[in-house]
Amino acid sequence: IPQCLAFNQYSAAHNPSPCYVLGKGLREIAAMSVQVLAAKMAEVELKDVPSKELTPESPLTPKADDKGMVENEPKATSATTPTMEPMVKTGDTSPGFLTPNTKMPQASAMKRTDPQQNGGEAFVNRDGTVAEAPRLKKIQFADQKQEFNKRPTKIGRRSLSRSISQSSTDSYGSAASYTDSSDDETSPRDKQQKNSKGNGDFCIKNIKQADFGRREIEIAEQEMPALMALRKRAQGEKPLAGAKVVGCTHITAQTAVLMETLTALGAQCRWAACNIYSTQNEVAAALAEGGFSVFAWKGESEDDFWWCIDRCVNLEGWQPNMILDDGGDLTHWIYKKYPNMFKKIKGIVEESVTGVHRLYQLSKAGKLCVPAMNVNDSVTKQKFDNLYCCRESILDGLKRTTDVMFGGKQVMVCGYGEVGKGCCAALKAMGSIVYVTEIDPICALQACMDGFRLVKLNEVIRQVDIVITCTGNKNVVVREYLDRMKNGCIVCNMGHSNTEIDVASLRTPELTWERVRSQVDHVIWPDGKRIVLLAEGRLLNLSCSTVPTFVLSITATTQALALIELYNAPEGRYKQDVYLLPKKMDEYVASLHLPTFDAHLTELSDEQAKYLGLNKNGPFKPNYYR
Ligand code: NAD
Repeated sequence: IPQCLAFNQYSAAHNPSPCYVLGKGLREIAAMSVQVLAAKMAEVELKDVPSKELTPESPLTPKADDKGMVENEPKATSATTPTMEPMVKTGDTSPGFLTPNTKMPQASAMKRTDPQQNGGEAFVNRDGTVAEAPRLKKIQFADQKQEFNKRPTKIGRRSLSRSISQSSTDSYGSAASYTDSSDDETSPRDKQQKNSKGNGDFCIKNIKQADFGRREIEIAEQEMPALMALRKRAQGEKPLAGAKVVGCTHITAQTAVLMETLTALGAQCRWAACNIYSTQNEVAAALAEGGFSVFAWKGESEDDFWWCIDRCVNLEGWQPNMILDDGGDLTHWIYKKYPNMFKKIKGIVEESVTGVHRLYQLSKAGKLCVPAMNVNDSVTKQKFDNLYCCRESILDGLKRTTDVMFGGKQVMVCGYGEVGKGCCAALKAMGSIVYVTEIDPICALQACMDGFRLVKLNEVIRQVDIVITCTGNKNVVVREYLDRMKNGCIVCNMGHSNTEIDVASLRTPELTWERVRSQVDHVIWPDGKRIVLLAEGRLLNLSCSTVPTFVLSITATTQALALIELYNAPEGRYKQDVYLLPKKMDEYVASLHLPTFDAHLTELSDEQAKYLGLNKNGPFKPNYYR
């Protein structure tokens, strides 16, 4: 199995097709008992593995019994009334819905990322002429069929390097579809599809992919213990009964787990994608087969994007009363097209930096007409997305794109915030020599205390093998530095959007761009020096690797709890303002994930609680604690 995994990772970087096939095989292997595996290994040749299918009842599917529950877990009290204050003033809130006592079996989801999203910009030749077809030596990969490239729409083709919503690129697009190699170029909008029950209220790529999508969802469930715990509890309570949730997020296996959880909690859901690239077609198919009204496919045009959102909300006899948005596009559409809908909407839950920013702007302008919950800034989301997620995905992103060996490599990490700390920790653990740049003396001191050399970029730029930006700033790596880097230096960004590396400064006549792999460009100087630019300066992990499902589980749980809270809040508790998830709910999200690790939380004694001035059930930290 370790050999298979190693080969699988190697394949991911070189050719995703065998990788998918092998990934499928590995999941099958993972699902076997040791005895069965031994027997299979004796009789099955490797070439047979890809042709086998997982049985619908995968042993990875969680059983709906309660045997895995951890006993004697502290119960969350519902004694305190949930209250949330606008902005940073958050109150003491009890989730009041569920105790964090479910222990789920673990299994790693194996997914492959989208190796596409090539930039579609004009290039300048070495001789100074602007090339109509870019001077780009491009290796065409089997998976580079970009159907959205082939089908012009009313609005025209979208630039491949941008997504509709800024936030969409800033938040997780997660993975690619395994099933993108479909040759069917018919637009889903031109197809009449029905699920096995005759329901046709959806628009997706291909309903026939549903079985495969279901397996993806089952795998994701293993790493989303909190949502599964909410579902178990929902067998008795339906806190979202009557809720009509319209959602606009990445449509991935993890979102499917969230949607199915919301349904188990009593909600009806209609969903569109917040990003034109990130939909896992087979997952959308599984959702449609399961009766969800999903309007999304990988490679939508801009016109399709808005059409899908409109199909979610513009329906005779159905009006949403809750919004779950990632990027603010759905909210924006309803404001623009159907402002009257807000009479029935009880709240908006927003996931992304950009969407939250838009909400604060609306609030400031006095135009926000319903309460909104900013889940982006909840502590659990920030900590896990920024620190732990980056700690895991930096190595994955670099390895898949470059096959680089980390041991002994000199790495420059710009910025020692959460993202930088995660990157540094991972690289240090792999034996790299890590340098850090910082502007803030506190973070700089932290870097020093953690054993990293704090330098200025220009001091080491000639000698480093890898440069990673994580500052949230702009123009951190400019042409001057790029000129001085050594041959073969890898340059990538883990921080803000695509502003940290001045990629535009590399689009000059004297430099040649060579596309060597999907998401990997060699930029070649006249003297033959080349740097390896990853994802054209966009976020490396979102472009070139996967994001751990467990991280998405935390985010999805904050979304579910925020929906429950806003939906059940008595009239007047929330005003037309933007609220943060209170500390207590944040703590609750974390506690729901603890059983996965068989972790045992210490309970405060009465005496200790009194001494610290705390409620025994939390919150355990002040709201400002990060
Ligand atoms: P942070 O504010 O904690 O850290 C950024 C650090 O960079 C700060 O300590 C700041 O002092 C430092 N900095 C700013 N300008 C600098 C410069 N010119 N040179 C050196 N250091 C500089 O923020 P964070 O949580 O680490 O996030 C950083 C960025 O990463 C944000 O834009 C965030 O949106 C993004 N992000 C990316 C991912 C991902 O998956 N790739 C996940 C979460 C956040």
